[in-house]
Amino acid sequence: MKLALFSTKKYDRKFFTQVNQQQYDLTFFEPHLDTSTAPLAQDFDGVCVFVNDRLDADTLEQLAEYGVQLIALRCAGFNNVDLEAAKQHQLTVVRVPAYSPYAVAEHTLGLMLALNRQIYRAYNRVREGNFSLDGLIGFDLYKKTVGIVGTGEIGAIVARLLTGFGCHLLGYDINPNPDCEALGVNYVELDHLLAAADIVTLHCPLVPQTYHLIDRAALDKMRPGVMLINTSRGGLIDTNAVITALKERRLGYLGLDVYEQESDLFFEDLSNDVIQDDTFQRLLTFPNVLITGHQAFFTHEALMNIAKTTLKNVADFETGTIDPKNLVTAEKFLRRTQSAR
Ligand code: NAD
Repeated sequence: MKLALFSTKKYDRKFFTQVNQQQYDLTFFEPHLDTSTAPLAQDFDGVCVFVNDRLDADTLEQLAEYGVQLIALRCAGFNNVDLEAAKQHQLTVVRVPAYSPYAVAEHTLGLMLALNRQIYRAYNRVREGNFSLDGLIGFDLYKKTVGIVGTGEIGAIVARLLTGFGCHLLGYDINPNPDCEALGVNYVELDHLLAAADIVTLHCPLVPQTYHLIDRAALDKMRPGVMLINTSRGGLIDTNAVITALKERRLGYLGLDVYEQESDLFFEDLSNDVIQDDTFQRLLTFPNVLITGHQAFFTHEALMNIAKTTLKNVADFETGTIDPKNLVTAEKFLRRTQSAR
């Protein structure tokens, strides 16, 4: 199997080469995969892609023409793949559903704590010899209500971690998780969760019915001063509505690891460039906004699991024994949309 890996960085090459042990013919490309770069995949049997590669109908058609048979996602989310087109071109799509839910859940907690206690601002103040506490007042997490939207692998770990802080937990999910119920998560309708939570944290996938789940109407339902955290996918949030809520001081804190237009920004060193995205730049001006560049997954354990599971998916594809959990099909996707209604 000849595999073309797109959007690769030094760390991808390191972990994949280490796990591969020369079993497969791996070629690492730095550019994102889209219609303009798809020709790089000629003569390959499979492509391996990440969160910001764009596998729309045109790209998939090109890949199929080149004889590509396998799309191996190095991530859990599959919102960047047109699954109907993949089905039409008989392309098999596999993913890594849970490479380290702990990494993402722990980063989520990190954003909550850093924002609440303004650790990012305190760090800069102390370095400048400014030991004033003005403006740094936080709140106890103990007995606060946290609303978890999407209680799958990651959401469930966030719930478990928050029980350690003594938080009240509300959950919203189209498929409630019995493990979360056992932890004391109280499942409610989304509107109830938005109205009652001091912190809202998003862990559902980006699918058509979750696109801009947090829009102006949702923000209006939330408590004044609420904290909103998104470590899932940027498209869950209407960024302009969030900026308005921040300006009106209705949104108290915003912690993001993902951003809807992140593909033009994240994973690159743009420190010598002029960033052209005015919406993103506006977000950065707020003292109560903390953004990390899609790094929630970025732990040693997660990178190792991504490489291992991806290469196992490749092996299973060859033998026709793909783990159903790792297979992404239009049918599964359609079932999800139907059950959400
Ligand atoms: P998961 O599939 O285990 O859990 C997702 C949960 O969302 C499921 O319980 C599902 O029932 C629920 N859900 C689906 N549609 C919903 C809807 N319309 N409304 C409410 N709930 C809905 O996935 P996971 O492993 O917990 O990952 C969650 C998301 O985290 C992924 O979709 C991915 O986008 C994101 N992620 C981000 C990073 C990062 O580095 N920031 C890393 C990994 C995953």
